[in-house]
Amino acid sequence: MFEGLTERLGTIFDRLRKRGALSEADVNEALREVRIALLEADVALPVVKDLINGIKARAVGQEVLRSVTPAQMVVKIVHDHLIEVLSGGETDEKLRLGEGAGINLNASPPVPVLLVGLQGSGKTTTAGKLAVRLRKREKKKVLLASLDIYRPAAQKQLAILGEQTETATVEIIPGQDALTIAQRAMDQARRQGFDVVILDTAGRTAVDEQMMAEAAAVKAAVNPLETLLVADALTGQDAVTLARSFHERVGITGIVLTRVDGDSRGGAALSMRGVTGCPIRLIGVGEKLDALETFQPDRIAGRILGMGDVVGLVERAADLIEKEDAEKLALKLTKGEFTLEDMAKQFKQLRKMGDFKGILGMLPGIGKIQKQLDEAKVDDKMIARQEAIILSMTIEERHNPKLLNASRRRRIALGSGTTVQDVNRLLKQHQMMSEMMKKVGKLGKRGLFGKGLP
Ligand code: GDP
Repeated sequence: MFEGLTERLGTIFDRLRKRGALSEADVNEALREVRIALLEADVALPVVKDLINGIKARAVGQEVLRSVTPAQMVVKIVHDHLIEVLSGGETDEKLRLGEGAGINLNASPPVPVLLVGLQGSGKTTTAGKLAVRLRKREKKKVLLASLDIYRPAAQKQLAILGEQTETATVEIIPGQDALTIAQRAMDQARRQGFDVVILDTAGRTAVDEQMMAEAAAVKAAVNPLETLLVADALTGQDAVTLARSFHERVGITGIVLTRVDGDSRGGAALSMRGVTGCPIRLIGVGEKLDALETFQPDRIAGRILGMGDVVGLVERAADLIEKEDAEKLALKLTKGEFTLEDMAKQFKQLRKMGDFKGILGMLPGIGKIQKQLDEAKVDDKMIARQEAIILSMTIEERHNPKLLNASRRRRIALGSGTTVQDVNRLLKQHQMMSEMMKKVGKLGKRGLFGKGLP
């Protein structure tokens, strides 16, 4: 259903003949489609409004890159914005729960991590997944504690999970309240040298004052490094109310989105992130205990737009423009007439492109020369020097190197701050290149670009 966005935008832009910068009217029209795509991805309405405003601000007046369509350009802008919203505003993310979801290694152990959320959101499963991950990836000693004293089997469920994952769990003592269990878990962790204590709080089927009050009290008592809201990706529009309530009442530091495996739309991530400003740290992608992944904004953004390809395309567009120049340059080289002036121009372009060897690599039969160039340590600085040598020649000399006798060569060396040997080397190189160009030219365009260009 989202695959259609580029096409739908395409239809709008097809009506517009002119290219160049995106006008406000074009953008407005395109954003109507973007809005529908976001709503279809189940992003909550207030969040959609914010997103649209943000996207509009960056799209209007934006130049459309050569080799992409305005529609593709808009999709790219939308994509970039979504990624920014999904990942922005966090500077200490890596420190706290980065690549391996490693709890802040600088914090003194035991580090408490509090999991909050509705019943059935996947809290207990996430506790187990997180324990496995921290133990395996970060080599941390983890203690699990269920603070759910309302659901009879809850503490038992966590104990079984602990056995399955070879993770320690606090002893079940009937009659203790959540706060007492939390404190007991912290005491035990301190005594027995645990690094991390994962506290799984009680959930209800709906947002409820007692649940919030209890979670807030536990939070105040143990001062967790992370308070993670565990939320079901299938929550859809309720995601906003849920996230806002937990954030206002308990105060969360991050979000774990579960059942992402069942939701191909990804709207909940945007909604929750938009409303709380808290990062999505991890995503649950299955029932198995290793089905927990680090959140990657670009994947969700791509999923929401359903068009990873387009984004890649636009990203490559800038590169392509450079490559087009390279292609033109290479074509010119094949035409046989290859003066020193051409060489200077090409040096300049090569220097701008920064990948001299890469360009040469596009030309078949260049292997031998390339080796010589390698030996002569061709680099940007050298190219700049060679450019200077050519620039010190007269136009006449550039077109007819035969004029370059010993005294002219001395003059050029002096003028370019090089030596006569440098000048000689350049002339030899030019000669080699023009000979090679003649050979290559015979291969024709197809032979030349059969490979090397995408
Ligand atoms: P809690 O009530 O919040 O503790 O929820 P549970 O951890 O008991 O999970 C409820 C159900 O959701 C269980 O059947 C889990 O196996 C399942 N579940 C949890 N996380 C995921 C996930 O990321 N993907 C899928 N498909 N199922 C999950």
